[in-house]
Amino acid sequence: MIYLDNAATTAVCKEAKEAMVPLLEDEYGNPSANYPFGDRAGSIVERARIRMAGMINANPENIIFTSGGTESDNSAVLKIKDIENSHIITTKIEHHAILNTCEYARKKGAEVTYLNVNPDGEINIDELEKSIKENTRLISVMFANNEIGTIEPIAKIGRLARAYGITFHTDAVQAFGHVPINVARMNIDMMSVSAHKFNGPKGVGFLYVRNIDDFEPLIWGGGQENGKRSGTENVAGIAGMEQAAIQSIKNMSYRMQKEQYLRNYLINRVMNEIDDVKLNGHKFKRLPGNANFSFKNINAAKLVEDMGNEGICISAGSACAAAGGKPSQVIMAINVQKEYAYGTVRITISHENTRDEIDRTVEIMKKLIKLQREQ
Ligand code: PLP
Repeated sequence: MIYLDNAATTAVCKEAKEAMVPLLEDEYGNPSANYPFGDRAGSIVERARIRMAGMINANPENIIFTSGGTESDNSAVLKIKDIENSHIITTKIEHHAILNTCEYARKKGAEVTYLNVNPDGEINIDELEKSIKENTRLISVMFANNEIGTIEPIAKIGRLARAYGITFHTDAVQAFGHVPINVARMNIDMMSVSAHKFNGPKGVGFLYVRNIDDFEPLIWGGGQENGKRSGTENVAGIAGMEQAAIQSIKNMSYRMQKEQYLRNYLINRVMNEIDDVKLNGHKFKRLPGNANFSFKNINAAKLVEDMGNEGICISAGSACAAAGGKPSQVIMAINVQKEYAYGTVRITISHENTRDEIDRTVEIMKKLIKLQREQ
């Protein structure tokens, strides 16, 4: 199998597995329990908190462990005080964990502005500033897009939000562990992270919250996570995430270079060897492992399925395309022409992929596209 869908999820790394197994086998204590067996679990959680905070230049008390990106995004939006009377600014290209939560907030009475993006997938800072209203309480703009890989101007957004005293949340699920992030320097007030996107386990992540005292929990119960997110902590998951994050940060520049090299090699081959194709997303302000192509007169769902039958995992622009519906909100927002939009595929490379794998992928893709176009 050739796995090229690393934006969907990644393989759990050896270091994460090694950290997790003893916590599932022998050290299974409850971190809240008041005896050494519990304390040991508690100290594993706290060590992870300290280390994860250090990686983004935050303080440990500002990290809330969650079940992953979706919960972190929900918490960031739904915790807004007086949400019924608030205005939220987000973008048309967010993940559904933000879009659908904003829709829910809208049904509760909030007003939501969905910013446009340019054909590269970038928001416009002037449009953002013009959309600010007196009751704007939250700006939520993703760090990097999960489909087209475009990296948004996060530091500029942070500076603007801070100047207006508006909370700035970023969904960094695709970015953390892949590109450098410094919440203090970038004026990020809240940030969502998910472990399974950087070789950690699924179902665990965190939310960074700068103004932690003001944070209203989404989940209530026994008061874990300093009362900010109840529920017994996923100790093994948190320890696995910590180890995966350490590896990602330590090896970031090597991984970025390798992924970029393979990504550029892939892009060059596809653009030179296949007719009627467009590259989506920003040319260089994009995630190192992301390539997203639209092929004219191609059914992406069928292409992905046929590639899968050849042992190659890539993804269609979105699940909607697979269901035969409309192209994704991202592809619509960047105005891909109709004849191309339905032929959109995403190929996301990890540091573990090889040039041979990219070569085989291009060869098979060329063959399948030719077949589809001849039919
Ligand atoms: N946000 C973005 C940008 C994502 O790509 C994803 C997952 O695909 C999520 C949020 C949801 O994260 P999780 O799978 O941890 O709930």
